[in-house]
This record gives sequence, structure tokens and C-alpha cells, in this order.
Amino acid sequence: MDRCNLTVLFEPRQEDLVEFLADMHVEIVASLPCYSQDNVDKQRGHGVYDKSIQALRRLNVVGYGQEGSGLLLNLVYNPVGAFLPPPQEKLEDDYKQELTTRFGITFNRLYTLTNMPIARFAHMLQREGNLDAYLELLATAFNPHTLDGLMCRHLVSVSWDGFLYDCDFNQMLDLRLGGNTPLRLGEWPGSTLVQLLAQGDIRVDSHCYGCTAGAGSSCGGSLTV
Ligand code: SF4
Repeated sequence: MDRCNLTVLFEPRQEDLVEFLADMHVEIVASLPCYSQDNVDKQRGHGVYDKSIQALRRLNVVGYGQEGSGLLLNLVYNPVGAFLPPPQEKLEDDYKQELTTRFGITFNRLYTLTNMPIARFAHMLQREGNLDAYLELLATAFNPHTLDGLMCRHLVSVSWDGFLYDCDFNQMLDLRLGGNTPLRLGEWPGSTLVQLLAQGDIRVDSHCYGCTAGAGSSCGGSLTV
């Protein structure tokens, strides 16, 4: 699975990335925080929407998101502010309607993600004085039915240099698995590593309420219907 921000496809020396991903049958999960230009450019920067649309067209041309191709192209929505995402299925219909009608773009699924109260988003909320209110919103919306599906229960994230994390949010926060003796690929036989992973606790903190709020949030979108 390639978590792709779409504009990366136009970076220098990435010209063959689309064909490479298609040849390797890599599933693409691409961020497109809204189907409207205003919202995307406001959140990601001027010109990002146009580039994202161009990138989706390139992916469609090689078969991504096309029925029967086996090349999965899933899009990711996240709210443009400090609120929870709307219901995923209805929003997927809206995305398909807009992108197909206006640009002829097709894709497989839309995943809704909750904004995690970490990194740039947390700093923005702090600057605006909204961080505590957002944390309260997430905690109040805690949904125990999301727990079984949390991605930290089923997946690990691996950094470029081989360190392991419960998820990519913990990776951003540098909360390594193993704590003071971090687990790293290549330093243990595979079977030992699996045992260590099974014994270890998941490193949870207040940001985890972002995954458990409302319908839940994971790299596969909402966790409940
Ligand atoms: S942020 Fe917390 S709850 Fe969410 S996947 Fe990571 S460890 Fe699990």
C-alpha cells in the first residue's frame, strides 16, 4: 500500500512512479481532503487541487481505479477543521458524483479520516486556542465499537530506517515499539520479532481518541457503519 499525497507524482525524479506502482500492483491510498478546489487549496496550499486532479487522471490512464484492472485507488477525506468527518458512504457518493461528472475520474473507495490532534494540526489548534475543545470533542465521542478495528491491533508501521511503530501517528510522534530498546527490522530474526510484537503493549496516549471517536478512523477509513 502506498500512502500518496498525489502531488508527489510531479516531484523531480518521480516521473516513473506511476508506472512502477502499477507494475508492482501496489494499492494507492491518496489524500484528497475535499472534492472542491477552495477547500483543498485552503488546507494544502494554492495549486494543490489542480495537481491532484492531474495526478488522478494519470493514475486512471494506467488503470488505477478502473473496474477489472485490479489496481486499487482509494481516496482519503479529512475534515478541514476541528470537527468529525461526516458518514463515509454518503460522502463517497458525493465524491464519485463530482469527480466523475467534472473530470471523468474514477476511484474505488473513499476513506474518511479524523484529524489527529498531533503535529501541524495540533499546533494550529493551539494557536487558535481550540486544542482543549477538540480533545474534549474526541474524548466525548469515544466509541468502544471501534476498538477491534484499530489499525494498531492489526498492522505495524515501519520507518525508512527500519524502526517499528504501532501506527503512522505514533511514528510521527516517534513513539517507537520497544521503548528504550526499540524494535528494528534486521536486528531480530523474523519469528522473534513477531513474538516481541505480540508481547508488547500498544503505546497509547491522548491522540488515540482521534481513532476511537464517532465512527472511528483508520488507514481503511471509518471503523463502524
Ligand atoms: S493513534 Fe493510538 S489508537 Fe490510533 S492506531 Fe495509533 S496507537 Fe492505535
